[in-house]
Amino acid sequence: MSSFDRLIKSTVVAGMLAGTSAFATEFITIGTGGVTGVYYPTGGAICRMMNKVKKDTGIKCTVESTGGSVYNIKTIKAGELDFGIAQSDVVYQAANGTGKFKDAPYKDLRVVMSIHPELLTLAVRKDSGIKAFADLKGKVINIGNPGSGNEATVKMLLENSKTVKLADIKAEQLKAAECPNALKDKKIDGYFYMVGHPTANFKDAANSTDIDLISLKDVPAAQKLVEEKSYYAWGTIPAGMYKGVDHDTVTYGVKAVLVTSSKASEKAVYSMVKSILDNFDKFKKLHPAYKNLTKEDLLKGFDHKLLHPGAVKAFKEAGVLK
Ligand code: GLU
Repeated sequence: MSSFDRLIKSTVVAGMLAGTSAFATEFITIGTGGVTGVYYPTGGAICRMMNKVKKDTGIKCTVESTGGSVYNIKTIKAGELDFGIAQSDVVYQAANGTGKFKDAPYKDLRVVMSIHPELLTLAVRKDSGIKAFADLKGKVINIGNPGSGNEATVKMLLENSKTVKLADIKAEQLKAAECPNALKDKKIDGYFYMVGHPTANFKDAANSTDIDLISLKDVPAAQKLVEEKSYYAWGTIPAGMYKGVDHDTVTYGVKAVLVTSSKASEKAVYSMVKSILDNFDKFKKLHPAYKNLTKEDLLKGFDHKLLHPGAVKAFKEAGVLK
């Protein structure tokens, strides 16, 4: 090989290597929740928007089904997950070192945006004899799998309750996706699920057995929590949303929030928010739980001090954040 050939060859190789790194794909994963909830399709909807512009951004987004809010935040903290969806009450607790995070606040927790509202929903088998929260005493009730935000919220409710306490129920910890069958098979009498509506989970339950949804609006512990905690708000599951439930159900809930670490690249966070703001109407069509969402809603339910710089940039550019 002549020195000229060698020069050409090394230039080509160097060029190829440079080319590889310039166009190297950045892979990101979003931790979600159970497959019949709303987090999982939400992760899918976000990735779909991002992957549409993959050629320009070089970012490939994938989704993982997980145990939910607490798991997602802890796994991001451990550096094993890039993004995750979590309830706004759990995000608040993680940032401030309370509740499940009382050992230490997670200082590097950052918010990308909030998404749909979630409501703490109590579904029971119609023949369980449960007509109100007070009837839960002695019943087999699923409170959420370990690592779910669901479990954290239900425990907080029962800790604040003077009528029904955790020790008064037979608490189960199945995954939410297992609950419709467990309800039908009479392994449980009811289950709590903090989730957006409508969701495949309650459709499954309502289509396989006669269910009812129980309002929590008259429960003193729920009233106290909504009054005291800024991250809780009342909401209504309309009559007719699920088969056989022909009354409105009033209960309280949170916002689902997309979170990450301060170490996440500004480019990835910026591209994520931009891809959703640029295609907002298309994004909204991807799940019925986003029906009433506005761009301004994406900034509700969390302390703006937690916004990741990449998100600040995208929201400002779009004129949504002043
Ligand atoms: N809010 C639930 C949790 O963190 C998950 C809901 C869902 O997957 O849509 O436990």
